[in-house]
Amino acid sequence: MKWEENPQLSDKLVALIAEDMHDEDRPLPSVTELIYCLTKAYNDRFQYLPPTTKGTIMMAVGVKLGDVFLPKLRREIGGEYEGIHSHIDFALDGHMGELKSTRYSPKKHPSEYSAGWHRQILGYMKVQSVTTMVFAVIHIIPAELKTWEVTATQEEIDTNWTWLQARKVQYMDFIQKQVRPTPFTFNEAWECRDCPYKLMCDAESAAISDRERFDATTTPDSG
Ligand code: SF4
Repeated sequence: MKWEENPQLSDKLVALIAEDMHDEDRPLPSVTELIYCLTKAYNDRFQYLPPTTKGTIMMAVGVKLGDVFLPKLRREIGGEYEGIHSHIDFALDGHMGELKSTRYSPKKHPSEYSAGWHRQILGYMKVQSVTTMVFAVIHIIPAELKTWEVTATQEEIDTNWTWLQARKVQYMDFIQKQVRPTPFTFNEAWECRDCPYKLMCDAESAAISDRERFDATTTPDSG
């Protein structure tokens, strides 16, 4: 056998996978887009660039695992609540649940999961008026499925909802003005690592700094 790598074909496959996963008709705004970088959320809607290769593959793994695990459990749970849309993954034995896949070790305790995951589950609890949900996590290496029952206090749920509502106001204000949310302002640092908009954000951020330096050194006209 002779093996020859074909990177061009890889790029084409990745582009096709990314195109397949791009959903242009999501209701606005959703819990998930308010949780993560607002600049990216805005771009994904109005100045879309496909995810990086790594981002596409990670997304594809998550989506495809969901397709395998969820068809029998998937219900249309969610909708709109106080101006924010949500879609909950599944219902099982009277519990509503969210399914995630991750490269985290199965040894990691859920209290160490990302703030985004915590915010998402708290947001869904608010929308559904519950204080308990199921959080199922598919660990890829080593392969393992962990299922957690998570309970939160009403105060934790309400505090998170107040935060989500404030994000909604900021985000919708940018959208109404047709202005991209200021880069590196509404995100966690890790989100920039594999982001397709990084070059755009760096350029815009440099332009903002130049403008501020120029304004600071310019003496206003008198009289
Ligand atoms: S590079 Fe960072 S700030 Fe810019 S869109 Fe991506 S995550 Fe947001």
